[in-house]
This record gives sequence, structure tokens and C-alpha cells, in this order.
Amino acid sequence: MRKSKLIILAWLLLLVPTLLLGVGALRLLQSEEARLQSSQQAAATDRVTAIAGNIDLAIAEVKDGLQATLQQMPQQQLASQLHRWKRENPLVRNVFIWQQGRGLLLPDPERPASDEEAAFIRRFLPLFADQSSWQAPEPDQQKLPAENNVLAERRELRLLAQRAPAPAKVAESYSSDIASSAPMMAETEIAEEPAQKQGETHWRSWYADDQLHLLGWFTPVNEQQRYGVEVEMMALLSRLLGNLPAQSSSESYALLNGNGKIFHQVGKREVSANDRPIAAVSMQNLPHWQVAAYSGKAAGGTGASIMLIGSLLIGTFIIAILLGGSLLLWQAWRNQRDASRKTSFVSNVSHELKTPLTTIRMYAELLGEGKIHEAEKQRRYLQTIIKESQRLTRLVNNVLDFSRLEQGRRNYQQEPLELKQLLQDLLESQQPRLRDADIRLDLQLPETACAVKSDRDALEQIILNLLDNAVKYAAVGEKIQLQLSCSDQQLTLRLRDWGPGIPSAHKQRIFDKFHRVDNSLTTRQQGSGLGLSIARQLAQGLGGELNYLPMQDGSCFELLLPREGAK
Ligand code: ADP
Repeated sequence: MRKSKLIILAWLLLLVPTLLLGVGALRLLQSEEARLQSSQQAAATDRVTAIAGNIDLAIAEVKDGLQATLQQMPQQQLASQLHRWKRENPLVRNVFIWQQGRGLLLPDPERPASDEEAAFIRRFLPLFADQSSWQAPEPDQQKLPAENNVLAERRELRLLAQRAPAPAKVAESYSSDIASSAPMMAETEIAEEPAQKQGETHWRSWYADDQLHLLGWFTPVNEQQRYGVEVEMMALLSRLLGNLPAQSSSESYALLNGNGKIFHQVGKREVSANDRPIAAVSMQNLPHWQVAAYSGKAAGGTGASIMLIGSLLIGTFIIAILLGGSLLLWQAWRNQRDASRKTSFVSNVSHELKTPLTTIRMYAELLGEGKIHEAEKQRRYLQTIIKESQRLTRLVNNVLDFSRLEQGRRNYQQEPLELKQLLQDLLESQQPRLRDADIRLDLQLPETACAVKSDRDALEQIILNLLDNAVKYAAVGEKIQLQLSCSDQQLTLRLRDWGPGIPSAHKQRIFDKFHRVDNSLTTRQQGSGLGLSIARQLAQGLGGELNYLPMQDGSCFELLLPREGAK
């Protein structure tokens, strides 16, 4: 008992630290994965912010350039100037002139020159019809990330660098004493360029037909009209795609449109709109559009594979440690069980041998002293001596068989036997025992002879072991039945008793060596737990089988033997 507690303790000592180690390692892996993911995300956010900034800046430059052209446009023949501009500049999709009170002058809403012009008028109809909507604020300006403030600074800086001196001031500086050709040049260039008009510039992002459109216009000071341009988005966007990294080793990048669909993507891995980006940044000049970065590996990427491999390794280690440890402990437990079984086997066998020996000696001494004169008594004593020496023989045979079977040295002497005869002879010799135990034997034999080729000793040993158990454990039933039936293929011998039977939990284990059912019945009877184990091994050695058939009342053991080669 103490030894099995020690084994459980050893197993717990193995299990608990191994599990703790496994849990610790998993947590470490998880935190490492989280760290890796967050640093990957931070780097990706930095990269997409830079890309989005560059695209924003490029669009801002395009807007500024278009506005500058609008401002410089001479008022005379404005319509034809705008038309020519539209024809020649791929970034210009449509142009318009709108006047307070008169509405749209160009293109003519009554007679649009093309389908494209008609579509343009339709697209911006709310704007051209409703004056208040001209002043509507740009959407989502406030929602943009703080990083895009950089954009405003960069734009301001560029405008500052582009600022040329006003013509009047240039003339003033020329009249000063400083002799230089530079102001002269400036004056000449400025004089040649069309003068920039004073007024207000505006841009509107416009969603129509599920698409983003950019409309810019100029409102000269003190004038009732505004004229402007619709940007050719495809021409603009296709020229912006160069801002996405040409070939990225680990990540994929995509430009997502206002509906979250992929407009363009670069990178080794093909991403779809359903993939979750590791970072996404919006742009000021392309409302609702985003630049997104995706992990180079599908679903989970590097982190997931590290986690998977790590978990597999940890799992393998834990299983290996637990399996190895369990195997060692199981072996230790078996050794301990075998050792204690052998000890009880030796003491049981010694005890079983001692009892008949004591009886034989006692009766032999009585007879030897010549004190018993009655012939009847002498006969009874002699019979007891014979009975006990038979029991001794059976016991010694069992022990011998056991050791031979254990070492694989049991040889079977096959000889032709008539089983009916063998049974009758054997049971005849057992009658006194059965009478002493008050057990009636019901022998049921087939009418025809039952020839078989088998080992006589082994067969007798099997039957005697079964009979021994019936006498030891089932005497209360007062009756046993031995039934033999023969078919062409096999012989079936059933020994049935009406004793207490065998608990179902033990019905297989009773054939294990040294196994005894742990109950009061077994405690009362001497035994070593070898009888059934030997009987089954012998039956199998003869090419047959020994089974236990559970009964409602009592037990039944069934011996099956093959008949081939019997004749
Ligand atoms: P042993 O009789 O020496 O204990 P066996 O291997 O012959 O060993 O039997 C194993 C156990 O099976 C016995 O200890 C007994 O508990 C149980 N057993 C065997 N035969 C019977 C039977 N006919 N009725 C009830 N229990 C039995």
C-alpha cells in the first residue's frame, strides 16, 4: 500500500512540474507572438502612413496645379479656353462655368455635347441646382489621423517655396541701388505669364454611382460666376500607383476604394477584400480610400506559425516526458506487484503443500505405531493418505506446469484418446472427494465415441483444476454438471456449478496468473491463483480455448478442443 502511494507521488512529481513547464512555455510563446505582432503592426503602420502621405501630397499637388491653371485662365473666351484644356490635359475629365442666378452655362444643360457631358451634369445636378451645397464642408476632415497633419505642413512649405514676389514690389527693388540681373529676369517672366486672378478656390469630393469624383472650382472676387474642373480619377489614380512599394519581401500592400474593395495591390501574396489588414491609413485627399498593409503569410502569418511549431514542440516534449515517466512508473508498479504476488505465491504454495503433508504424516505415524487395530479404521486412514497424496500430486503438477509454461518448456505429447473413457476414469478417481464435499456429479456424455488426438496429462490437469475450483468454491450448490459434446470440428466440454459465481468485474481477470477474487469465499479456501491461468494456457497449448460463461446462478467453464487429426 505504501509502495503504491509512493508511485502515485512519483507520478505527481513528474506530472505537475511537466505541466507547469508546458504552461509556462506556452505563455512565453504567446507573449513573444504578441510582441512580434505588435512590432510588425507598428512597422506596417509607419510604412502605410508614409505611402498614404505621399499619395495625399501628390493629389494636393495635382489640385494646386489645376487650381493655378484655373486662376490664370483669361476671362475672354473662357469657355473655349476651358474646352481646349479639357481636350489637351488627361487629368481633366470635365469643365464647367456656373453663374449666380443663371445656373450652369457650360456645358449647356439643354444641349449636352456628349453622353459624358450629360452624365457630368446629372452627376453634379444637386450642386449646380442648389447654391447652399457649394459651401458644404469637406467630409471626414476631422476624422483623419494626426499623421496627416504632416501633409498640411508639407503643402504649406511647398507653397511658401513657390511664392514669387509681387510685380509692383519687383519694380521697386529694381529701382534700388543694387545692380543685379535677377530681378530683371523675374520681372520679365512675371510680365509674360498671365496674371493670377484674386478669388477663392474650392475642392469638393463627391460620391456618385458608388464612385469618388473630385470637383474643383475658382470664384473670382466680385464676380458672380465660378468655373472649374472635374478630375479624371482613373488618370490620376493610375499615376499614383507608383507610390505603393514595387516589390515587398514580406508584406502586401493595397489601395482600397471607398467601398473597401481592392483598387490595386502589390506584393507576393494575393490578398482579397475579406483579408484583415495589419495596418490601414486613410487619406485626406481621397476620402474613404485607404492604404492597407497585409501580412506576407495568410491568416495569422509568422506569429501563427511560430505558435503552431512552438505548441507542437512543447506538446511533443510533454507527451514524451509523461509517456516515458509513465512507462517507468508502470514498470516499477508491475515489478512491485509481481514481487508481492510471488511472495504470496510462495507462501500459498508452501501452505498448500504443508496441509496434505501434515495429514499424510499424521495418519502414517498412527498406522506405523500399530495402535490402530480396527480394519475399517485402517482402511479409512489409508484412503485419506491416498487422497492427500493425490492432492499433493495435483499441486506439484500445477507448480511444475506453471514453471514450464513460464519458461516455454511445456511439451505436449499428442496421442489418440477416447475422451468419454478418459472422463469416466478421471471422475471415478474423484468420486470420494465429491462425496466428502457432498456434491452430486451429473455427467452428460454423447452416445457415440469421442476420439481426439491430444495430450492426456494436459487434459487431465485442465479438468482437475476446474473440478478443484468447483469443489472449493461451489460446494453450496451441491451439484455439478459435466457435459461433453462432439462435432466433426471440435469437442466442447462444459463444467457447470450452482455456486456463488464470479463477479463480472473479475470474469476476465480470473485467468491472470496469481489473480484471486478478493472475497470471504476465497479467503476461506486455500489457493495460489494459478489454477485457471494454467488451465487456459494448457488449453491454448492444445490448440483450443478455455472460457468462462457467466450464468445467472453459479458458473460455467467451457473447454473447446479442435478435432483435426483425431482419426
Ligand atoms: P485459486 O483457486 O488457487 O485461487 P484459480 O486460478 O483456480 O486460483 O481461480 C482464481 C479465482 O477464481 C479463485 O480465487 C476464485 O475466487 C475464482 N473461482 C474459480 N472458480 C470458481 C468457481 N467455480 N466459483 C466461484 N469462484 C471461482
